[in-house]
Amino acid sequence: MSYVNGLFSFIKNSPTAYHAVDTIKKELLSAGFTELRESDPSSFSDGGKHFVIRSGSSIIAFKGKSTDGGFMITASHSDSPCFKLKDELSGASYTRLATEKYGGMIHYTWLDRPLSVAGRIVVKTADGIKTALVNIDKAALTIPSVAIHLNRGVNDGYKFNPATDLLPLVGGADSKGTLMQVIADRAGVSKEDIISHDLFVYNAEEGRIIGINDELILAPRIDDLGCVYASLRAFLNAPVSDNSVAVLAVFDNEEVGSETKQGAASTFLDMTLRAISGDDKKHSAALYHSFMVSADNAHAVHPNHPELYDGTNYAILGKGIVVKYNANQRYTTDAVSNATLSVLADRAGVKLQRFSNRADMVGGSTLGSISNTRVSVSTVDIGLPQLAMHSACETAAASDITDMIRLLTELYASSISKNGDNIKINK
Ligand SMILES: [Zn+2]
Repeated sequence: MSYVNGLFSFIKNSPTAYHAVDTIKKELLSAGFTELRESDPSSFSDGGKHFVIRSGSSIIAFKGKSTDGGFMITASHSDSPCFKLKDELSGASYTRLATEKYGGMIHYTWLDRPLSVAGRIVVKTADGIKTALVNIDKAALTIPSVAIHLNRGVNDGYKFNPATDLLPLVGGADSKGTLMQVIADRAGVSKEDIISHDLFVYNAEEGRIIGINDELILAPRIDDLGCVYASLRAFLNAPVSDNSVAVLAVFDNEEVGSETKQGAASTFLDMTLRAISGDDKKHSAALYHSFMVSADNAHAVHPNHPELYDGTNYAILGKGIVVKYNANQRYTTDAVSNATLSVLADRAGVKLQRFSNRADMVGGSTLGSISNTRVSVSTVDIGLPQLAMHSACETAAASDITDMIRLLTELYASSISKNGDNIKINK
């Protein structure tokens, strides 16, 4: 399977952060990794191939025989902006869903699309409760636009109210109660046993190749499943190093600020790396030599609005991996981490592009600087260049996916020996 088709099926199988983690887990298990529990940290330091999951939506996988050459880490995020399901709303004419926004999406892009529902449910058992993943896996919902004849001003700029304008239609009045029944059936449980749920409405469209030379891709959740998929491929492609530990970290809740028990601001990465090191002395030495790539997508220059970008520090689709800079450290990149990455990119034959926001614009932030407050290692912020970030359907370039995989494979196959100002990047 080509990487683009592999990404499309990864995106299809990952409608929510829970499913993204489950998709990664299945791949790791079939590659010979074993799942460990945070309750047994002493099992982390045996030099084997393992992974650990927190709260069902964040995962850290690792492999490598020794921490002497540090941890070579990628961090990306499993969540994307969407709508979280609260309740069903039944009326005289229709059945709709009451939802709440998750993250900051572009509202109008969610209208008139085929939508579906997935997430996790918690069911009653004989001695407690049990979590199950569920995906109704069919285009069952839509958020219909108001016809232009009834909203003549819509093209003059319309402010969508999430409490009234963006509620998905599930079916007719007689559809009342059907969604939860379908969910129970899909999970193989009785509807009465479902105590609670974390269910989300997602865009059910599949990825497709576009561009006159088939050079572009159009798909939901490219931010950040593009980087998650590339990190996973690279992590599995790279040989096990004798000298460093390769770490694949995928966190939930980046879209809502990362400050949750499973987000990049949590104890998850810190506790996992400490357990791999085994003792405090070894851990300090390992962190000294470690390097992290925070991989979250970057804004490519918009074809119709180049004026929104810096005059020289902008990225183009298909021209290589973007290194993100911000003087106020919303991105972690500094001269040393950029130079470290440049050496790896040269070795991998991958081109880098430099991005920083216009000096009069704030822009976004990402995992790197948040994670660095808990696990402080040399870090660079990178991403695939993409258009329409946080639209229900986003655009990127096929060649950049392959470049990201090559670059991260090089990272995972390397180790670092630091001695003051001198940094050796070993292959
Ligand atoms: Zn992102």
